[in-house]
Amino acid sequence: MKINENFLNLKDSYLFATVGKKTTAFKNAHPDKDVIRLSIGDVTLPLAPIVIDAMHAAVEELAHRESFKGYGPDQYCYGYEKLIESIKGSYSRKGVELKSSEVFISDGAKSDLGNILDLFSSDNTVLIPDPVYPAYLDVNVMAGRKVIFADATAANGFLPMPDENVHADIIYLCSPNNPTGAVYTREQLKQWVDYANRRDALILFDAAYEYFVNDSHLCRSIFEVEGARTCAVEICSYSKTAGFTGVRCGYTVVPEELMRGGTSLNRLWARRQSTKFNGVSYVTQMGAAAVFTEEGEKQIRENLGYYRKNAEMISACLDELGIWYTGGKNSPYIWMQCPDGMDSWEFFDYLLENANVVGTPGSGFGRNGEGFFRLTAFGSEENTREACRRIKQLLKK
Ligand code: PLP
Repeated sequence: MKINENFLNLKDSYLFATVGKKTTAFKNAHPDKDVIRLSIGDVTLPLAPIVIDAMHAAVEELAHRESFKGYGPDQYCYGYEKLIESIKGSYSRKGVELKSSEVFISDGAKSDLGNILDLFSSDNTVLIPDPVYPAYLDVNVMAGRKVIFADATAANGFLPMPDENVHADIIYLCSPNNPTGAVYTREQLKQWVDYANRRDALILFDAAYEYFVNDSHLCRSIFEVEGARTCAVEICSYSKTAGFTGVRCGYTVVPEELMRGGTSLNRLWARRQSTKFNGVSYVTQMGAAAVFTEEGEKQIRENLGYYRKNAEMISACLDELGIWYTGGKNSPYIWMQCPDGMDSWEFFDYLLENANVVGTPGSGFGRNGEGFFRLTAFGSEENTREACRRIKQLLKK
């Protein structure tokens, strides 16, 4: 037998392992120091009470023969109508009308960001912003696809735009972005949509952080942009929106009019999912269905507001220090320029040793991340406040 040798082309990801190792080594050497992690990419607040109640009720249903559920309904690839309807409602409030057949329930965005590639030939060229969420690159390397990069730099506000001289078949966009926190404007997204439609390319739009957008001029879905239904798939998640990182639920929207190679991608995806996926647990789907109810949205917005305040605190700290950054406004990520020309790891060590604060070196997210540093708003308010105080003290001139 032969293995898929493309796996041998993957680069080892040392980023989070090295951050962890260096932090542990520092703590062991200085047990008296209170180290604060502003490197957390996971949520920390508990699930909303309405979600917990819905999950308890679902467990109770499973306890009785009359209400027991086995496999989910196969009409919508094992997604329950209650959940699909609530997702459609959430889109409707953004001004986007979807059909039930266009919403596919998943166990999170990460799975579908890779799984969707089953539909496309490995001959396609993939365009990925640099820096970016590392999974986009790795899933394409595993499939042996040619990957090219769109440079995200301080000069373009870490929001690369289409280049007419570059040919790409599959384009990954993530807005609000991880790691840069940068958010495309409606006009910028329109340029990407027009480019994709003109070139017969496909946009894979990662909207995992859309609920952090509170500026009404910004899009929370690519489908708010005219023309997107013929060139885009949107991949979403309850992870950051509603604290589902451990529960696992997401959804992918594939419009019915989206055709490539004379074939409906919606039909191909439905076929792929019904063959390789048996759905998300009933308890999880019922918990998720509570998220986009009126009361659910109110409760998740309280948690999002907590993280947003942390992001504001970090942004205010950098504003005061006169440090350039992106994000922090409609995103839980703050992407700062390292001071005094330090490279990303130099600044990591400097901040850990002198302020006992941990962040994530930008160079770990791609070549263009060198010289930048990611801070996150997912910590506690007290820790974030204290970290900002220490950062200010350390970096003020
Ligand atoms: N997309 C982006 C940009 C992310 O940052 C993450 C997680 O951090 C994911 C997708 C994965 O989300 P999920 O937990 O739904 O798999």
